[in-house]
Amino acid sequence: MSSEHPIDPTVPPSGTGCVECDAVDGWWLHLRRCAACGHIGCCDDSPAKHATAHAKASGHPVIRSFEPGEVWFWDYDKDQFYESGPQLAPPEHHPVDQPVPGPAGRVPADWQQHVG
Ligand SMILES: [Zn+2]
Ligand SMILES: [Zn+2]
Repeated sequence: MSSEHPIDPTVPPSGTGCVECDAVDGWWLHLRRCAACGHIGCCDDSPAKHATAHAKASGHPVIRSFEPGEVWFWDYDKDQFYESGPQLAPPEHHPVDQPVPGPAGRVPADWQQHVG
């Protein structure tokens, strides 16, 4: 494991959806962006919680929301919420036409029973 800086504002996001969910045609509620490597993962209210899994597996402690209009950060190591932080490489959120939960076509009709 490298000891890179927890926030690298030059790294673009890995894509528009959760890396692991996209690999298996999964779905998510909200998306989070790893501030160190750009990994996009799903939030802790999503069925698979890939953002937290990435933080634990990679040792990258800081995430930022990947939701339109949200700029907050979370530091897993410090258990600390930040209302804002450094500007990260664009795009700063998933496409605004991507639904929540998303992505379109992969969300089950009973999704509300799978979140939270
Ligand atoms: Zn996921
Ligand atoms: Zn990362």
